[in-house]
Amino acid sequence: MPVTYKEFAESYLEFNIPPFADTLAKTDSVFGKTNGKLTTMQVNVGYACNFSCTHCFLESSPERTEIMSKQTMEDCLTVFAENGFETLDITGGAPELNPHLEWFIEEGVKLGKVMVRSNAALLTTPAYQHLIEVFRYNEVTVVVSLPCYTKENVDSQRGTDNFEKVIAGIEALNAVGYGTDPVLELNLVYNPLGGFLPGSQCGLEADYRRILGEEHNIAFNNLFCLANTPMGRFRTMLESKGELGEYLTLIYENYNPDTLPSMMCRNQLNVDYDGGLYDCEMNHVIGLPINDKYHRISDLKGHKLEQRDIRLNGGCYVCTAGSGSSCGGALV
Ligand code: SF4
Ligand code: SF4
Repeated sequence: MPVTYKEFAESYLEFNIPPFADTLAKTDSVFGKTNGKLTTMQVNVGYACNFSCTHCFLESSPERTEIMSKQTMEDCLTVFAENGFETLDITGGAPELNPHLEWFIEEGVKLGKVMVRSNAALLTTPAYQHLIEVFRYNEVTVVVSLPCYTKENVDSQRGTDNFEKVIAGIEALNAVGYGTDPVLELNLVYNPLGGFLPGSQCGLEADYRRILGEEHNIAFNNLFCLANTPMGRFRTMLESKGELGEYLTLIYENYNPDTLPSMMCRNQLNVDYDGGLYDCEMNHVIGLPINDKYHRISDLKGHKLEQRDIRLNGGCYVCTAGSGSSCGGALV
């Protein structure tokens, strides 16, 4: 069962950690609001995934059946155009498993930049390998999660032999120009293997580039470092080791107000597979909808999004710890 907002908030109090809004108020309350104009619409097109990673806060897996309908995608595109969004950020689960992905990309690029978050492993399988050409033709930015550059560490998070599958997918993307052609951007995503914060993004990117280059001849543009979110499977893992309090305390004690101007939710709207509207994926996991009179993408059609208060919560300590964390990596 996913943790509810109430349970999530209580777990911070249990470890004497103040609500994030109180911590923020000591710094500057202006960062509790979205910017006037949002730039990124992040759309979760389904929870089904070919992997069941131990750190997955969405608890995606091959058993999940939630999938975004084509009608909801159409609603997303209408709201995207009406509100002048610039980037359509498509995520999952594994987005490849939504049968309307190709159509969504083709319609999305008529309106702005399109980005797809993938684990790349499906891209070498007969049913999905055509998507590489769809990505290339439409100049989609591809973001591939690869939690480490070693087989041992990746397989410990994702299951035996999954490192090779992801590497094969990245090699297939490289083969059509991803990571070397200036219009075909390929970014990788790192997250820690346990209850600690990412190290320096710059240093890790250099390590990834050297080791993946030497051992697999892989090219990529940027490495994004993301901190783990204490929800879903990662929370279950922390609880089973008795480390939840330690991790919540770690992210609280590393609160860094310099990250506030770049918090991703200030420029973003997140749309869940069923059309629900949230500030970010974390907020949809704990069931905290946006602070607006409209909570569904279908209801938003014909209306302009207004500046709103962000639904701050304990998850915000993840985004603001250390160098900060967002879907685009470190913030400072
Ligand atoms: S972390 Fe990504 S690849 Fe792993 S189960 Fe979750 S959605 Fe799938
Ligand atoms: S969890 Fe992060 S992205 Fe979500 S509302 Fe808080 S600061 Fe924003």
